[in-house]
Amino acid sequence: SMKAKMVPKRIPVAPAIHPAAPLIGRRAHYDALVVGAGFAGSVLAERLAAGSGKRVLVIDKRPHIAGNAFDHHDAAGIMVHRYGPHIFHTNSDDVFAYLSRFTKWRQYEHRVLASVRGKLVPIPINRTTLNTLYGLDLHDDAAAAAFLSARAEPREIVTSEDVVVAAVGQELYETFFRGYTRKQWGLDPSELDKAVTARVPTRTNTDDRYFGDRHQAMPLNGYTAMFENMLDHPNITVQTGVDFADCDVRADHLVYTGPVDEYFGHRFGPLPYRSLEFRHETHDVAQFQPVAVVNYPAPDVPYTRITEYKHLTGQTAPRTSISYEFPQAEGDPYYPIPRAENQALYRRYAALADALPDVSFVGRLATYRYYNMDQVVGQALATYRRLAPDLVPMLNR
Ligand code: FAD
Ligand code: UDP
Repeated sequence: SMKAKMVPKRIPVAPAIHPAAPLIGRRAHYDALVVGAGFAGSVLAERLAAGSGKRVLVIDKRPHIAGNAFDHHDAAGIMVHRYGPHIFHTNSDDVFAYLSRFTKWRQYEHRVLASVRGKLVPIPINRTTLNTLYGLDLHDDAAAAAFLSARAEPREIVTSEDVVVAAVGQELYETFFRGYTRKQWGLDPSELDKAVTARVPTRTNTDDRYFGDRHQAMPLNGYTAMFENMLDHPNITVQTGVDFADCDVRADHLVYTGPVDEYFGHRFGPLPYRSLEFRHETHDVAQFQPVAVVNYPAPDVPYTRITEYKHLTGQTAPRTSISYEFPQAEGDPYYPIPRAENQALYRRYAALADALPDVSFVGRLATYRYYNMDQVVGQALATYRRLAPDLVPMLNR
């Protein structure tokens, strides 16, 4: 229940606490402490404060809110995403309506090109991809379907290799998926759950959109502005630059959105996460590439994709900013790695988490799920709905 006093960690306050953190270290009491100011933490903070009148402290160890969705204007004045391209898409009317309380939207449908054999062709693989790559004139869906089924190798679909080879055959699999996946994950597609490459469909029509969702849009003034609106509530205090390990705040409930294995001191061993290094550049041209994202599946190119942000934001400027993504084994945990042995290890941590009724584990890192933003919002709203009946409004504070 929310009544039990829950003190997550009693680590003495380190002297180097964020200077603008007057409440930290004084044994301040909150109804809820939220660790992480990304989607998971910010949605829970907003709901607990605005929905249930709770006093909430949100901390994040980074110097900013918005988690991996953080965007900002770089030195050239171009709005960029510090942690790589974030494109919002969802089939959930509820999630879209909820976020629409905090932002207006810019309609945007994501299109991606892949650089293969010296050409830029659309990915997901569709009729245009086949026509461009092979110099064909497949004139309708049936012709493209016949072309693909002559190459497809039907089989039981277990791994990320099976998904693609069963749909398009070995050659297209190697051209678009094998090299990219080996770089991105440090694993062969045959070592990854089918869900990873199944994120990218195969089409026989000429729909070249990356996503098929009902709602596809970018927050009009950016993600960070949307998060500012979400967290702008008299019951919410936000402290950035504060690590949970250095935080000695008392709270009735803890919402934890960091890596679940870290919360439990890695006692069963570390959960594998994949990291990225971003190389951000500004170029003295108005446009660097024809679409927001170009993928580079070739094994001899060290990065996986290049993003040009102006396509996402609609910003006009004489210069343009881009980022390269270089996959890494070490570094900030960006991706849980979907495969059976990792899921088994996660289940052991999840059993520990389930035994802590005063702590909610929410989000991509805390539930070890390869979730998109809208899925994290949906998960956070569901978590709040489960908590809310037990929340007694604190009227006398
Ligand atoms: P996060 O955003 O990671 O937030 C967790 C926060 O907790 C972080 O800010 C972290 O600093 C903080 N934290 C962790 N440990 C501690 C601690 N000990 N003390 C204090 N703070 C702590 N999704 C889409 O829908 N569309 C996309 O196009 C898309 N593109 C992506 C591209 C990349 C390169 C990546 C990595 C992800 C992408 N995503 C995309 C997924 C999206 O980023 C996540 O779904 C979403 O940001 C997860 O929110 P979260 O709150 O769970 O985690
Ligand atoms: N993928 C690929 N080639 C591509 C695009 C995707 O092999 O051109 C595979 C790769 O394994 C990637 C996964 O499909 O990690 C999911 O792609 P998505 O674009 O959804 O990745 P994210 O944006 O989450 O990094």
